Amino acid sequence: MNIESKLGLDVFKIDEEPHIIINQEICRSCEEKFCLYVCPGKLYSINRETGDMDVECSGCLECGTCRIACVHGALDWNYARGGFGVQFRFG
Ligand code: SF4
Ligand code: SF4
Repeated sequence: MNIESKLGLDVFKIDEEPHIIINQEICRSCEEKFCLYVCPGKLYSINRETGDMDVECSGCLECGTCRIACVHGALDWNYARGGFGVQFRFG
């Protein structure tokens, strides 16, 4: 079974309260935009209408990669609240 198939078995309990908050002011002056490339779930995207950086928290694997990659400190990153977030099926 490949990694995509394993991840596809994970279950996400969606919280209405986002566990990752993005400081858009910092993002606007960020040239590298590492978050677009490092997220294994490809959850970051640039909003075509506003130009803001968006993150789709509902599919977050809570790996913390974006937190490390954002060297500009634009992310207020927390684990999902208890009872919410990802439930791994393969460790
Ligand atoms: S989240 Fe961090 S890496 Fe991504 S655009 Fe904003 S400042 Fe840049
Ligand atoms: S914690 Fe991991 S899966 Fe979640 S948004 Fe950041 S890089 Fe993506």
